[in-house]
Amino acid sequence: MDLTQIDRYEFRVERRGAMRVPGVVFASRALLSDAGQSLEQVRNVATLPGIVEASYAMPDVHWGYGFPIGGVAATDPAQGGVVSPGGVGFDISCGVRLLAADLTAQELAPVLGRLMDALDPAVPRGMTRGGVWTPHDRDELRRILTDGSRHALERGHGEQRDLDRCEDGGAVDGADPGQVGERALERGLHQVGSLGSGNHFLEVQRVAEVYDAPVATAFGLHPGQVCVMIHCGSRGLGHQICGDQVRRMEQTMRQYGIQVPDRQLACAPVDSPAGQDYLAAMAAAANYGRVNRHMLAEAARRVFAEVTGARLDLVYDISHNLAKLEEHEVDGVPRWLCVHRKGATRALPPGHPDLPPDLRATGQPVLIPGTMGTASYVLTGVPGGRAFHSTCHGAGRVQSRHQAARSVSGRQLRDRLEAQGIAVRPSSWRGLAEEHPGAYKDVAAVVEAGEGAGLCRSVARLVPLGVVKG
Ligand code: 5GP
Ligand code: MN
Ligand code: MN
Repeated sequence: MDLTQIDRYEFRVERRGAMRVPGVVFASRALLSDAGQSLEQVRNVATLPGIVEASYAMPDVHWGYGFPIGGVAATDPAQGGVVSPGGVGFDISCGVRLLAADLTAQELAPVLGRLMDALDPAVPRGMTRGGVWTPHDRDELRRILTDGSRHALERGHGEQRDLDRCEDGGAVDGADPGQVGERALERGLHQVGSLGSGNHFLEVQRVAEVYDAPVATAFGLHPGQVCVMIHCGSRGLGHQICGDQVRRMEQTMRQYGIQVPDRQLACAPVDSPAGQDYLAAMAAAANYGRVNRHMLAEAARRVFAEVTGARLDLVYDISHNLAKLEEHEVDGVPRWLCVHRKGATRALPPGHPDLPPDLRATGQPVLIPGTMGTASYVLTGVPGGRAFHSTCHGAGRVQSRHQAARSVSGRQLRDRLEAQGIAVRPSSWRGLAEEHPGAYKDVAAVVEAGEGAGLCRSVARLVPLGVVKG
């Protein structure tokens, strides 16, 4: 691979063949060696029609469907720019929600086991059918798809802050349930407020360290505090939408004269009917994903209130699998771009107009899950943030699920974590083993690279106290 080191945490994948722009990988040398084949995918993305600046890879980059996970690419619709479902991923709008409790870890300690025992049955997950909230009928499901968390609030679930502290105020504009197929709706009806499989989780955490006290305070965080982190997406509905749309784009691509080096990069011009329909369906799935996390947060609130009397306030909710139309300066000129973030997080800088007023001065909270045995991070966006104001989304896998499950048994892992003082409530032993901490890169190194590359800044480190695993 033709790689040029530009800086300590920046490497350029030189242009060749059909690449329209270079690739840029933000990583240390050590992380780069974990990126493996995914750099080929960075190259493939650079061939997409209308791509501007570069095909970017975040420090947690690894192999994905078409695009790498940890990939960021922006296209210009005015120049034939395309949207690609592979640039969003199958779990449309998978993301992370962080809630802060008015409770210290010390206060929680005597009842942690009871809290985890109560969360266990309250958090639907794994193969079981059903979620926290069953919509009345398809009409109500359609309301969820168009209005996102605003609809949940109207129905008496949650509070105003749940919208204010969510990306896009709790709902993405432009969703059209008419673009969501029958099968996707059917799957969506029974999964509102459910985690899904093993990489998804609800974790009780402690704020172990604060790196920037004023920003942490603005986010609502302080040392020793108990937090709840929820990671999940749009379940079967999002998956079905992605599959349906990829199939359609495979058909229509020829019509637009688009050629891609990998079928998984199926795409359509943003301004074409296929492109617009995808974005409308994707927005519907994004709203579903938000309501999903919103309702799981409601379930956690009920359990916390019962067992500890504590309340849970939303710190923030981010999506790390999404395409968005955003304005960015390219070579000093503002342009409307379709920004794909796949396993990557938007990180708005201080002063950005899309931030809620109480976060205008600090920048956007960025939520980075690490592993259930190590740590997770809260970061913030920085002025001049690179890659269209994006950063990493997690530690990033180094082992496949299969490899991971071979290296440790679920029961062994549970015992190890419990010996570290981390309570574990798995939905399956196999699923637990697939997610063992050694299957991921070192999250501290990933965050250091993101910060060193000028993508974000560290605000706080969170450590696990107990995990409810999908
Ligand atoms: P993904 O969206 O790619 O499935 O996962 C995002 C990130 O979540 C992974 O890269 C990994 O770092 C992190 N992660 C997976 N399982 C857990 C968990 O149980 N606890 C925490 N804190 N992070 C996890
Ligand atoms: Mn997901
Ligand atoms: Mn995810």
